[in-house]
Parts: sequence; structure tokens; C-alpha cells
Amino acid sequence: MNDCLFCNIIAGTVPAQKVYEDDTTYAFLDIGPVSKGHTLIVPKEHAVNLTEGSEAAATAMMKTVYKIAPGIVKALGASGYNLGMNHGTDAGQLVFHTHVHLMPRYAGEPRTFVKSHPAQEELATIAEQIRKEIFF
Ligand code: AMP
Ligand code: ZN
Repeated sequence: MNDCLFCNIIAGTVPAQKVYEDDTTYAFLDIGPVSKGHTLIVPKEHAVNLTEGSEAAATAMMKTVYKIAPGIVKALGASGYNLGMNHGTDAGQLVFHTHVHLMPRYAGEPRTFVKSHPAQEELATIAEQIRKEIFF
């Protein structure tokens, strides 16, 4: 137990809409999505950013992106996705636990990075749709 938000989400002490979990990584919906299905993928190992953590944690995180991206795209009818990481305050990092953003994109929709604030019920429905396409 520590005061890191994402460590607490992994531990289950802060609620989140989980879409995937394995021994070393965890994935859940961003509460301020820039697109439908905006997902955060994190190593379970705590580190403030990618290069402060272990190489194993970094590669596990990308392996999970590789595993779950097709399911997210299929579940939501997306046509592609952006991946993004913010390292350091000047880069826009707000949560200091390594994470990669997976932002699904949809044909004909503007590719913005403006956060939205959907109701928890809406996020829960999206997470359920995604989980059905991810087999673990
Ligand atoms: P970053 O700017 O890369 O550090 O992004 C942190 C992300 O965490 C932002 O997109 C936030 O919307 C998201 N976020 C903050 N608190 C939570 C939370 N409790 N559950 C899910 N996502 C969160
Ligand atoms: Zn942490």
C-alpha cells in the first residue's frame, strides 16, 4: 500500500474499470477519455516513468498493448489507435506511475486529445464490451 494512485488501482483499493490483468501488468479505462475506450496500460511494478523502471516492466507493458489492442479495436468498432506516453511534468505527466495511453480512433471522427467526462456506468459498459474480446 502506498500513495500512488495507479498502485492503489492495481491493488483494488481505488475503483477502476479493468479490461485486462496478468502477473505483471494491468489495464483499465482512463476516467478522462479523449476517445471511446481510452485505456491505460501499466506495469504492476511501481516506477515514476518508463526508464526509472525495469526493462522487464517496460517490455511486459508493451506486450500487453500488443495482446489487447486488437480486442479493443474489435470490441468498439474502432479503425485504429494512438499510443502515447508523457514523461515528466513538462511533457504533461500527471500520474507518476509508468503508463501508456491507448486511444482508439474512429473513421470520420476528429483526432483530438480533449478529455471527456463520461458517467461511470458508461465506462463500465465499455469495459465490459472490451473484456468480451480479450481472452485471459
Ligand atoms: P498522464 O498525463 O500521462 O500522467 O495521464 C494520466 C491519466 O490518468 C489521465 O489521462 C487521467 O485522466 C487518468 N486518470 C487520473 N485518475 C484516474 C483514475 N482514478 N482512474 C483512471 N484514470 C485516471
Ligand atoms: Zn505506483
